[in-house]
Amino acid sequence: MMKRLRIKSTVALLLALSLILCSFGFAQAIVIPQDVKNVILMIGDGMGENSINWASAATGEKLFIDTMPYKGYSQTDSLSGTTDSAAGATALSCGYHAFNSNLGQCSILINGHGANLCTYLNVCEAAQSIGKKTGVVTSDDNSGATPSGFSAHTYKREMPEEITKQQMECGLDILWAKDNGVSSKAEAQKHGWQYCETLAEILASDGSKKSFAAVQGDICFDNDSDADAPLSALTSAAIEKLDNGKGFFLMVEGAHIDKYSHANDSENMFKAMLEFDKSIKAAVDFAKRDGNTIVIVTADHETGGIVFDSETKSYKYTSGDHTNTDVPVRVFGSYDLVKNGETVVNTDIAKFIAKKIGYTDTFPKFTLNFAFPAELFSALFAALKDKIG
Ligand SMILES: [Zn+2]
Repeated sequence: MMKRLRIKSTVALLLALSLILCSFGFAQAIVIPQDVKNVILMIGDGMGENSINWASAATGEKLFIDTMPYKGYSQTDSLSGTTDSAAGATALSCGYHAFNSNLGQCSILINGHGANLCTYLNVCEAAQSIGKKTGVVTSDDNSGATPSGFSAHTYKREMPEEITKQQMECGLDILWAKDNGVSSKAEAQKHGWQYCETLAEILASDGSKKSFAAVQGDICFDNDSDADAPLSALTSAAIEKLDNGKGFFLMVEGAHIDKYSHANDSENMFKAMLEFDKSIKAAVDFAKRDGNTIVIVTADHETGGIVFDSETKSYKYTSGDHTNTDVPVRVFGSYDLVKNGETVVNTDIAKFIAKKIGYTDTFPKFTLNFAFPAELFSALFAALKDKIG
């Protein structure tokens, strides 16, 4: 009797304490301590801190990303040094570093000929194995490096046919991207996909069936064409279709922050940044309503070497390529990854996702390729043959 009374009063005390803490504003940012139902990872390809600052300063827009509660940075180097988007996506989806151009595996490339040392499990596959729905949405082609890092395993990124073939057979519920000219309606339908080419078809698709979109227009932002399917609209639609009792993992990529920064085309980079920002808002708005969702925003690397010039008091590009500047990490729904300016490694983000979606098996995980010595030999041989001609 005494014991039960003590437990009751402890519970009452805890309740009172949490009420007091809530009234002091501690509940303002929803903090979910352990597993959550849904995780949404938003990758701004090539998005450095200064891509955000520049877009905000130049357009006069207060960006939503800057209102996210928990902030930090991520290191992005791959086994090759400054990363490309393939090794970057592999780190973010599999929790392991790889060489540039590797997708979901660690392979040695000799003059374009590859030998796969081991294959990595990605977070989509981990989520699928525990009954979660999974989706990949990008403004890039379906066989672009970032979406491929979450849906395929190849020794190099320039294999659109092989990547598309693997994607057709992968366990995703949604794969929405720009048409890469390789996928076909007949092939997709053979593998049980609904095949969409427009936003209208995507919106009208049956949520209980998996859907593959090869969008004919632009996704990076609305270019005033009827064929366009802006990333923010796709993000909202994907969340609506994936939301289910068992939860989901969704990766959304804004690919054109990188593409326009390679060309040092700031005006279009701003547009791509604003559309990506709108997509982040759509994801966080859902997370706020849902109360059981974490949204992580980061980049695979910075592109363009954007710096603030104190003389001209403006931002400028200093490179046409990727840099190894640490990239932003912003989180809604948990401060277990970053809270107040900490720096993590990109592979930590994949591990964080696997843990938060409740994947209890070993992660990260690799499978050794026992054919590696033979593959290495044939890659060497093929490279030599190239050289001799
Ligand atoms: Zn790039």
